[in-house]
Amino acid sequence: MGSSCTGQRATLLGAMAKKRPKRRRRKPIAALEATYICDSCGEEIVVPVDISGGAHQDYVEDCPVCCHPMTLHVDIDPDGEARIEGQHE
Ligand SMILES: [Zn+2]
Repeated sequence: MGSSCTGQRATLLGAMAKKRPKRRRRKPIAALEATYICDSCGEEIVVPVDISGGAHQDYVEDCPVCCHPMTLHVDIDPDGEARIEGQHE
């Protein structure tokens, strides 16, 4: 009798522990993405933006579609929006 009681209690506790709502939080601005249009093939390219690099960044990246090097000018707004301007090398 006593054993069945403790058994019930354990299940109850287990159920309670499981009741914690797990909400998936979107990462605020840790992982930013921006798009640019490749000058060479016209494809829209999505690139990850590293915000630790500053609000203004310039770098050269090869287009993943046609491998054409593009100079990318990255601008990050104060509200966390990233914009990329692609420039033909
Ligand atoms: Zn391209």
